[in-house]
Amino acid sequence: MKILKIKNLSDDSFKSFDTKKLKTSIDNVDKFPFNIVEQSAWKRPLKWSNIIILSILHIGAIVCYVNICITVIHLETVLFAMFIGALSGIAASAGAHRLWSHRSYKARWPLKLWFLIFQAITMNGSALTYARDHRTHHKYSDTDGDPKNPSRGLFYSHVGWWLVKKTETVKQAGRKLDFSDLYKDKLLYFQHKYYIPIFIVFGVIIPTIIPIILWNEDPWIAFSSCVVLRVFVVLHHLFTVNSLAHYFGFRPYDFRIRPTDHRIVNYISMGEGLHNYHHVFPFDYRINDRPQWELFNPLANFIHLCSRIDLAYDLRIASPEVVKGTVARKGIQALYDPIRSRKFLIVNAIFDWIIGLLTAFWIIYPGLFFKLATQRVLYI
Ligand SMILES: [Zn+2]
Ligand SMILES: [Zn+2]
Repeated sequence: MKILKIKNLSDDSFKSFDTKKLKTSIDNVDKFPFNIVEQSAWKRPLKWSNIIILSILHIGAIVCYVNICITVIHLETVLFAMFIGALSGIAASAGAHRLWSHRSYKARWPLKLWFLIFQAITMNGSALTYARDHRTHHKYSDTDGDPKNPSRGLFYSHVGWWLVKKTETVKQAGRKLDFSDLYKDKLLYFQHKYYIPIFIVFGVIIPTIIPIILWNEDPWIAFSSCVVLRVFVVLHHLFTVNSLAHYFGFRPYDFRIRPTDHRIVNYISMGEGLHNYHHVFPFDYRINDRPQWELFNPLANFIHLCSRIDLAYDLRIASPEVVKGTVARKGIQALYDPIRSRKFLIVNAIFDWIIGLLTAFWIIYPGLFFKLATQRVLYI
Protein backbone atom coordinates (compact mmCIF):
# COMPACT_ATOMS: atom_id res chain seq x y z
CA MET A 1 0.00 0.00 0.00
CA LYS A 2 1.30 3.44 -0.85
CA ILE A 3 1.74 5.42 2.34
CA LEU A 4 1.80 9.17 2.24
CA LYS A 5 2.07 11.69 5.04
CA ILE A 6 -0.27 14.56 4.47
CA LYS A 7 -1.25 17.23 6.95
CA ASN A 8 -4.37 18.66 5.46
CA LEU A 9 -6.12 16.79 2.71
CA SER A 10 -8.57 19.55 1.97
CA ASP A 11 -5.84 22.15 1.38
CA ASP A 12 -2.53 20.58 0.33
CA SER A 13 -3.90 17.99 -2.04
CA PHE A 14 -6.16 20.48 -3.81
CA LYS A 15 -3.26 22.77 -4.63
CA SER A 16 -1.62 20.10 -6.75
CA PHE A 17 -4.88 18.96 -8.29
CA ASP A 18 -6.57 20.49 -11.30
CA THR A 19 -10.08 20.68 -9.86
CA LYS A 20 -11.52 22.64 -12.80
CA LYS A 21 -10.52 19.97 -15.24
CA LEU A 22 -11.73 17.21 -12.93
CA LYS A 23 -15.17 18.74 -12.47
CA THR A 24 -16.07 18.17 -16.09
CA SER A 25 -16.36 14.40 -15.79
CA ILE A 26 -18.02 12.13 -13.21
CA ASP A 27 -15.62 9.32 -14.18
CA ASN A 28 -12.68 11.36 -13.00
CA VAL A 29 -14.03 11.83 -9.49
CA ASP A 30 -12.63 8.49 -8.34
CA LYS A 31 -9.14 9.68 -9.28
CA PHE A 32 -9.18 12.27 -6.55
CA PRO A 33 -6.49 11.38 -3.96
CA PHE A 34 -8.71 10.11 -1.17
CA ASN A 35 -6.93 6.83 -0.47
CA ILE A 36 -4.22 8.28 1.68
CA VAL A 37 -3.31 6.44 4.89
CA GLU A 38 -1.30 8.13 7.58
CA GLN A 39 1.81 6.27 8.66
CA SER A 40 1.42 7.16 12.33
CA ALA A 41 -2.16 5.94 12.70
CA TRP A 42 -1.41 3.14 15.16
CA LYS A 43 1.83 4.39 16.72
CA ARG A 44 0.00 5.75 19.72
CA PRO A 45 -0.71 4.57 23.30
CA LEU A 46 -3.63 2.14 23.32
CA LYS A 47 -6.82 2.91 25.21
CA TRP A 48 -7.13 -0.33 27.13
CA SER A 49 -10.46 0.41 28.79
CA ASN A 50 -12.17 0.74 25.38
CA ILE A 51 -10.29 -2.27 23.97
CA ILE A 52 -11.52 -4.47 26.84
CA ILE A 53 -15.13 -3.18 26.74
CA LEU A 54 -15.41 -3.53 22.95
CA SER A 55 -13.75 -6.98 22.97
CA ILE A 56 -16.23 -8.22 25.60
CA LEU A 57 -19.11 -6.68 23.61
CA HIS A 58 -18.07 -8.35 20.34
CA ILE A 59 -17.37 -11.78 21.84
CA GLY A 60 -20.57 -11.47 23.88
CA ALA A 61 -22.58 -10.55 20.77
CA ILE A 62 -21.42 -13.72 18.95
CA VAL A 63 -22.15 -15.95 21.97
CA CYS A 64 -25.58 -14.33 22.53
CA TYR A 65 -26.58 -14.57 18.86
CA VAL A 66 -25.64 -18.26 18.68
CA ASN A 67 -27.51 -18.90 21.91
CA ILE A 68 -30.67 -17.20 20.60
CA CYS A 69 -30.42 -19.21 17.35
CA ILE A 70 -30.30 -22.57 19.13
CA THR A 71 -32.85 -21.84 21.87
CA VAL A 72 -36.30 -20.28 21.93
CA ILE A 73 -37.13 -16.59 22.27
CA HIS A 74 -40.43 -14.77 22.74
CA LEU A 75 -41.58 -12.72 19.74
CA GLU A 76 -42.26 -9.87 22.18
CA THR A 77 -38.57 -9.87 23.18
CA VAL A 78 -37.45 -9.54 19.55
CA LEU A 79 -39.88 -6.69 18.92
CA PHE A 80 -38.93 -5.00 22.19
CA ALA A 81 -35.19 -5.21 21.41
CA MET A 82 -35.82 -3.75 17.93
CA PHE A 83 -38.01 -1.02 19.40
CA ILE A 84 -35.54 0.22 22.02
CA GLY A 85 -32.69 -0.19 19.53
CA ALA A 86 -34.54 2.10 17.11
CA LEU A 87 -35.36 4.60 19.88
CA SER A 88 -31.74 4.74 21.01
CA GLY A 89 -30.58 5.24 17.42
CA ILE A 90 -33.06 8.09 17.01
CA ALA A 91 -31.88 9.70 20.26
CA ALA A 92 -28.21 9.44 19.25
CA SER A 93 -28.78 10.84 15.76
CA ALA A 94 -31.57 13.37 16.28
CA GLY A 95 -30.28 14.38 19.74
CA ALA A 96 -26.51 14.08 20.17
CA HIS A 97 -25.86 14.67 16.48
CA ARG A 98 -28.39 17.05 14.96
CA LEU A 99 -29.42 18.91 18.13
CA TRP A 100 -26.26 19.23 20.25
CA SER A 101 -23.45 18.81 17.71
CA HIS A 102 -24.95 21.02 15.01
CA ARG A 103 -27.72 23.01 16.69
CA SER A 104 -29.83 22.37 13.61
CA TYR A 105 -32.95 22.98 15.71
CA LYS A 106 -33.94 23.75 19.29
CA ALA A 107 -35.72 21.37 21.65
CA ARG A 108 -37.89 21.65 24.76
CA TRP A 109 -36.61 19.96 27.92
CA PRO A 110 -38.90 16.85 27.78
CA LEU A 111 -37.50 15.97 24.37
CA LYS A 112 -33.95 16.68 25.56
CA LEU A 113 -34.48 14.45 28.59
CA TRP A 114 -35.80 11.66 26.42
CA PHE A 115 -32.82 12.04 24.03
CA LEU A 116 -30.33 11.96 26.89
CA ILE A 117 -31.71 8.77 28.44
CA PHE A 118 -31.93 6.88 25.15
CA GLN A 119 -28.64 8.26 23.79
CA ALA A 120 -26.88 7.00 26.93
CA ILE A 121 -28.07 3.45 26.31
CA THR A 122 -26.28 3.32 22.93
CA MET A 123 -22.93 3.12 24.83
CA ASN A 124 -21.55 5.64 22.32
CA GLY A 125 -20.12 7.93 25.03
CA SER A 126 -22.02 10.81 26.62
CA ALA A 127 -23.88 13.19 24.30
CA LEU A 128 -21.49 15.97 25.35
CA THR A 129 -18.38 13.93 24.50
CA TYR A 130 -19.96 12.89 21.21
CA ALA A 131 -20.87 16.49 20.29
CA ARG A 132 -17.34 17.67 21.14
CA ASP A 133 -15.69 15.00 18.99
CA HIS A 134 -18.20 15.44 16.22
CA ARG A 135 -17.75 19.19 15.95
CA THR A 136 -13.99 18.59 15.73
CA HIS A 137 -14.63 15.95 13.06
CA HIS A 138 -16.56 18.46 10.95
CA LYS A 139 -14.18 21.36 11.43
CA TYR A 140 -11.05 19.33 10.64
CA SER A 141 -12.64 16.60 8.55
CA ASP A 142 -10.18 14.04 7.11
CA THR A 143 -7.12 15.79 8.49
CA ASP A 144 -4.79 15.19 11.46
CA GLY A 145 -7.15 17.25 13.62
CA ASP A 146 -10.11 14.91 12.98
CA PRO A 147 -10.54 12.42 15.87
CA LYS A 148 -12.11 9.85 13.52
CA ASN A 149 -9.82 10.76 10.61
CA PRO A 150 -11.06 8.52 7.76
CA SER A 151 -7.85 9.15 5.81
CA ARG A 152 -6.23 6.74 8.32
CA GLY A 153 -8.23 3.83 6.94
CA LEU A 154 -11.71 2.33 7.00
CA PHE A 155 -11.18 0.36 10.23
CA TYR A 156 -9.68 3.36 12.00
CA SER A 157 -12.62 5.61 11.16
CA HIS A 158 -15.16 2.88 12.01
CA VAL A 159 -13.95 1.80 15.44
CA GLY A 160 -10.14 2.00 15.53
CA TRP A 161 -10.10 5.59 16.77
CA TRP A 162 -11.78 4.36 19.96
CA LEU A 163 -8.88 1.99 20.62
CA VAL A 164 -6.03 4.53 20.73
CA LYS A 165 -5.54 7.71 22.72
CA LYS A 166 -6.10 11.05 21.01
CA THR A 167 -3.09 12.70 19.39
CA GLU A 168 -1.88 16.08 20.53
CA THR A 169 -3.05 17.49 17.16
CA VAL A 170 -6.60 16.29 17.79
CA LYS A 171 -6.54 17.73 21.32
CA GLN A 172 -5.23 21.07 20.04
CA ALA A 173 -7.85 21.10 17.28
CA GLY A 174 -10.55 20.57 19.91
CA ARG A 175 -9.16 23.39 22.06
CA LYS A 176 -9.64 25.83 19.17
CA LEU A 177 -13.39 25.21 19.15
CA ASP A 178 -16.00 26.68 21.45
CA PHE A 179 -17.94 24.08 23.43
CA SER A 180 -19.23 26.51 26.08
CA ASP A 181 -22.85 26.06 24.94
CA LEU A 182 -22.53 22.31 25.63
CA TYR A 183 -21.16 22.80 29.16
CA LYS A 184 -23.84 25.42 29.91
CA ASP A 185 -26.64 22.99 29.04
CA LYS A 186 -27.51 21.63 32.50
CA LEU A 187 -29.33 18.50 31.33
CA LEU A 188 -26.54 17.67 28.90
CA TYR A 189 -23.89 18.14 31.57
CA PHE A 190 -25.86 16.02 34.04
CA GLN A 191 -25.95 13.14 31.54
CA HIS A 192 -22.20 13.57 30.92
CA LYS A 193 -21.46 13.42 34.65
CA TYR A 194 -23.72 10.43 35.40
CA TYR A 195 -23.40 8.67 32.06
CA ILE A 196 -22.34 5.28 33.45
CA PRO A 197 -25.10 4.95 36.11
CA ILE A 198 -27.68 6.11 33.51
CA PHE A 199 -26.39 3.49 31.06
CA ILE A 200 -26.50 0.72 33.68
CA VAL A 201 -30.03 1.57 34.87
CA PHE A 202 -31.72 2.42 31.55
CA GLY A 203 -29.48 0.43 29.20
CA VAL A 204 -28.92 -2.78 31.15
CA ILE A 205 -31.26 -3.29 34.13
CA ILE A 206 -34.59 -1.98 32.77
CA PRO A 207 -34.34 -3.58 29.27
CA THR A 208 -33.52 -6.92 30.93
CA ILE A 209 -36.23 -6.76 33.59
CA ILE A 210 -39.14 -5.68 31.34
CA PRO A 211 -39.22 -8.91 29.22
CA ILE A 212 -38.78 -11.06 32.36
CA ILE A 213 -41.68 -9.42 34.19
CA LEU A 214 -44.10 -8.73 31.33
CA TRP A 215 -43.90 -11.93 29.25
CA ASN A 216 -41.83 -14.26 31.40
CA GLU A 217 -38.73 -14.26 29.19
CA ASP A 218 -35.63 -16.23 30.21
CA PRO A 219 -33.27 -13.71 31.96
CA TRP A 220 -30.23 -14.70 29.89
CA ILE A 221 -32.18 -14.36 26.59
CA ALA A 222 -33.60 -10.99 27.72
CA PHE A 223 -30.10 -9.71 28.54
CA SER A 224 -28.62 -11.15 25.33
CA SER A 225 -31.13 -9.60 22.96
CA CYS A 226 -32.16 -6.37 24.68
CA VAL A 227 -28.72 -5.35 25.94
CA VAL A 228 -25.74 -7.06 24.26
CA LEU A 229 -27.05 -7.49 20.70
CA ARG A 230 -29.02 -4.26 20.75
CA VAL A 231 -25.93 -2.24 21.79
CA PHE A 232 -23.69 -4.10 19.31
CA VAL A 233 -25.98 -3.45 16.33
CA VAL A 234 -26.81 0.20 17.10
CA LEU A 235 -23.15 1.06 17.73
CA HIS A 236 -22.04 -0.39 14.40
CA HIS A 237 -24.91 1.33 12.59
CA LEU A 238 -23.76 4.66 14.04
CA PHE A 239 -20.10 3.91 13.25
CA THR A 240 -20.81 3.38 9.53
CA VAL A 241 -21.50 7.10 9.14
CA ASN A 242 -17.85 7.81 10.03
CA SER A 243 -16.44 4.96 7.98
CA LEU A 244 -18.47 3.80 4.96
CA ALA A 245 -19.93 7.26 4.35
CA HIS A 246 -16.42 8.67 4.03
CA TYR A 247 -15.34 6.01 1.52
CA PHE A 248 -18.03 4.65 -0.77
CA GLY A 249 -20.88 6.43 -2.51
CA PHE A 250 -21.57 9.63 -4.41
CA ARG A 251 -20.50 13.21 -3.92
CA PRO A 252 -23.18 15.34 -5.59
CA TYR A 253 -22.81 18.46 -3.43
CA ASP A 254 -19.02 18.77 -3.21
CA PHE A 255 -16.90 16.21 -4.99
CA ARG A 256 -13.68 17.58 -3.49
CA ILE A 257 -14.41 16.39 0.04
CA ARG A 258 -14.27 12.78 1.19
CA PRO A 259 -17.77 12.33 2.74
CA THR A 260 -20.28 10.60 0.49
CA ASP A 261 -23.99 10.01 0.09
CA HIS A 262 -24.34 6.29 0.83
CA ARG A 263 -27.70 4.55 0.55
CA ILE A 264 -27.00 1.51 2.79
CA VAL A 265 -25.64 3.79 5.52
CA ASN A 266 -28.76 5.89 5.08
CA TYR A 267 -30.93 2.81 5.71
CA ILE A 268 -29.14 1.51 8.79
CA SER A 269 -28.65 4.95 10.34
CA MET A 270 -32.28 5.88 9.62
CA GLY A 271 -31.43 8.92 7.51
CA GLU A 272 -27.84 9.94 8.34
CA GLY A 273 -26.31 8.51 5.18
CA LEU A 274 -26.44 11.56 2.91
CA HIS A 275 -23.11 12.51 4.39
CA ASN A 276 -21.80 14.52 1.46
CA TYR A 277 -24.82 16.80 1.85
CA HIS A 278 -24.34 16.83 5.62
CA HIS A 279 -20.70 17.96 5.48
CA VAL A 280 -21.62 20.75 3.07
CA PHE A 281 -24.73 21.84 5.02
CA PRO A 282 -24.19 20.57 8.60
CA PHE A 283 -26.80 22.98 10.01
CA ASP A 284 -29.67 21.43 8.01
CA TYR A 285 -31.78 19.26 10.34
CA ARG A 286 -33.00 17.09 7.44
CA ILE A 287 -29.54 15.96 6.17
CA ASN A 288 -31.29 15.92 2.83
CA ASP A 289 -32.77 18.56 0.56
CA ARG A 290 -35.23 16.30 -1.24
CA PRO A 291 -38.94 16.28 -0.30
CA GLN A 292 -39.18 14.18 2.86
CA TRP A 293 -41.26 11.41 1.27
CA GLU A 294 -38.79 10.89 -1.55
CA LEU A 295 -35.98 9.16 0.35
CA PHE A 296 -35.87 6.99 3.48
CA ASN A 297 -35.37 9.55 6.22
CA PRO A 298 -37.25 8.68 9.44
CA LEU A 299 -35.13 11.07 11.52
CA ALA A 300 -36.08 14.19 9.57
CA ASN A 301 -39.72 13.15 9.78
CA PHE A 302 -39.32 12.52 13.52
CA ILE A 303 -37.90 16.02 14.13
CA HIS A 304 -40.60 17.50 11.91
CA LEU A 305 -43.24 15.65 13.95
CA CYS A 306 -41.69 16.96 17.20
CA SER A 307 -41.95 20.50 15.81
CA ARG A 308 -45.67 19.95 15.09
CA ILE A 309 -46.28 19.17 18.77
CA ASP A 310 -43.98 22.00 19.90
CA LEU A 311 -41.22 19.79 21.33
CA ALA A 312 -38.82 21.12 18.67
CA TYR A 313 -38.63 24.57 17.11
CA ASP A 314 -36.42 26.88 15.01
CA LEU A 315 -35.66 24.09 12.54
CA ARG A 316 -32.86 25.15 10.18
CA ILE A 317 -32.55 24.20 6.54
CA ALA A 318 -30.41 25.21 3.56
CA SER A 319 -32.48 27.16 1.03
CA PRO A 320 -32.98 25.51 -2.39
CA GLU A 321 -31.14 28.45 -4.04
CA VAL A 322 -28.08 27.96 -1.82
CA VAL A 323 -28.06 24.19 -2.46
CA LYS A 324 -28.39 24.64 -6.22
CA GLY A 325 -25.68 27.31 -6.23
CA THR A 326 -23.34 25.05 -4.24
CA VAL A 327 -23.92 22.13 -6.60
CA ALA A 328 -23.25 24.41 -9.59
CA ARG A 329 -19.97 25.59 -8.07
CA LYS A 330 -18.47 22.42 -6.59
CA GLY A 331 -20.91 19.55 -7.00
CA ILE A 332 -21.95 17.21 -9.77
CA GLN A 333 -25.19 18.27 -11.43
CA ALA A 334 -25.86 14.89 -13.07
CA LEU A 335 -25.79 13.15 -9.66
CA TYR A 336 -27.72 15.86 -7.86
CA ASP A 337 -30.62 16.22 -10.22
CA PRO A 338 -30.87 13.36 -12.71
CA ILE A 339 -33.76 13.62 -15.14
CA ARG A 340 -36.51 11.44 -13.68
CA SER A 341 -40.28 11.38 -14.07
CA ARG A 342 -42.71 11.90 -11.20
CA LYS A 343 -43.86 8.28 -11.59
CA PHE A 344 -40.27 7.07 -11.18
CA LEU A 345 -39.82 9.17 -8.03
CA ILE A 346 -42.99 7.75 -6.43
CA VAL A 347 -42.07 4.12 -7.19
CA ASN A 348 -38.50 4.79 -6.04
CA ALA A 349 -39.79 6.33 -2.79
CA ILE A 350 -42.02 3.33 -2.03
CA PHE A 351 -39.12 0.90 -2.58
CA ASP A 352 -36.69 3.11 -0.67
CA TRP A 353 -38.88 3.20 2.45
CA ILE A 354 -39.64 -0.54 2.32
CA ILE A 355 -36.02 -1.54 1.68
CA GLY A 356 -34.85 0.98 4.28
CA LEU A 357 -36.99 -0.56 7.01
CA LEU A 358 -36.04 -4.11 6.01
CA THR A 359 -32.32 -3.25 5.90
CA ALA A 360 -32.34 -1.43 9.25
CA PHE A 361 -33.31 -4.70 10.99
CA TRP A 362 -30.94 -7.00 9.06
CA ILE A 363 -29.71 -8.59 12.30
CA ILE A 364 -32.77 -10.83 12.63
CA TYR A 365 -32.43 -12.49 9.18
CA PRO A 366 -29.42 -14.83 9.72
CA GLY A 367 -31.05 -16.24 12.88
CA LEU A 368 -34.40 -16.56 11.14
CA PHE A 369 -32.90 -18.44 8.19
CA PHE A 370 -30.89 -20.69 10.52
CA LYS A 371 -34.01 -21.61 12.49
CA LEU A 372 -35.97 -22.25 9.29
CA ALA A 373 -33.15 -24.36 7.80
CA THR A 374 -32.80 -26.44 10.97
CA GLN A 375 -36.58 -26.66 11.51
CA ARG A 376 -36.44 -25.05 14.94
CA VAL A 377 -39.23 -23.14 16.65
CA LEU A 378 -38.93 -19.55 15.39
CA TYR A 379 -40.56 -17.78 18.34
CA ILE A 380 -42.83 -18.60 21.24
ZN1 LIG B 1 -18.28 12.82 8.56
ZN1 LIG C 1 -22.48 15.89 11.70
